[in-house]
Amino acid sequence: MRRLFIAGNWKMNTDSASAVALATGLAAESKDVEALDIAVCPPSVYLPAVVAATKGTKVGVGAQNMYHKSGGAYTGELSAAMLQDVGCQYVILGHSERRHILGESSEDVNKKLEAALAQGLTPIVCVGELQEERVAEPSETTDVIRRQCEGSLSGLTCEQMKKVVIAYEPVWAIGTGLTASPEQAEEVHLGIRQWLTARFDAETAEAVVIQYGGSVKPSNAEELLAKPNIDGALVGGAALKVENFMGIIKAGLKVSQ
Ligand code: PEP
Repeated sequence: MRRLFIAGNWKMNTDSASAVALATGLAAESKDVEALDIAVCPPSVYLPAVVAATKGTKVGVGAQNMYHKSGGAYTGELSAAMLQDVGCQYVILGHSERRHILGESSEDVNKKLEAALAQGLTPIVCVGELQEERVAEPSETTDVIRRQCEGSLSGLTCEQMKKVVIAYEPVWAIGTGLTASPEQAEEVHLGIRQWLTARFDAETAEAVVIQYGGSVKPSNAEELLAKPNIDGALVGGAALKVENFMGIIKAGLKVSQ
């Protein structure tokens, strides 16, 4: 049985005071949450402060990116070991902003994934189609998602795959206020699970948590999370306010009952 997993991606937002306030507020508000998993992914410079603010609470902490090398002359980069050293449990890999603004490929994501797993981090691997890919005739969505999954998740064993979280984030729905309808999202999630069954096996496919991301907010979270193959949410804008993020967590609790 998969547990819902709600993660907040703070992107390049907050400062040291507001990051700690947000983490502290969330930790306090979520203290009685048992039925689902929660994480926040602050900017990397605030990771130690957010780890300290959430220690011993229901809130796990993740980074937004990492580099695949273990150390050395890679100016500006952070290794998986460094993230683990400061208390991270999770790392987001291949977010669409990294793929489309910073030119990250599925091959890059795959190298990072291998390093993250070797270090015991839980990777959240993002996949998602562009607007023009969705509306093309015929739609390219299925092919794009399959290609990104094949490239990003290449070389994994079933046991490794079970430790990976996939986030389906249609690029046209990220930060735009547009959300995939629950039916559109469920169709892609089901497709990813079918791909996992074919590439790995049915047991692995059943075990993998697949989050949805793209303008998730308290008002639309419940109907998205109620879908059988949507196992949580990766949340951007609505993760920056305790009240909004808690609204999504409460929607998750409702559908977990
Ligand atoms: C994201 O950053 O992964 C995201 C889904 O952002 P938003 O919720 O703001 O669309």
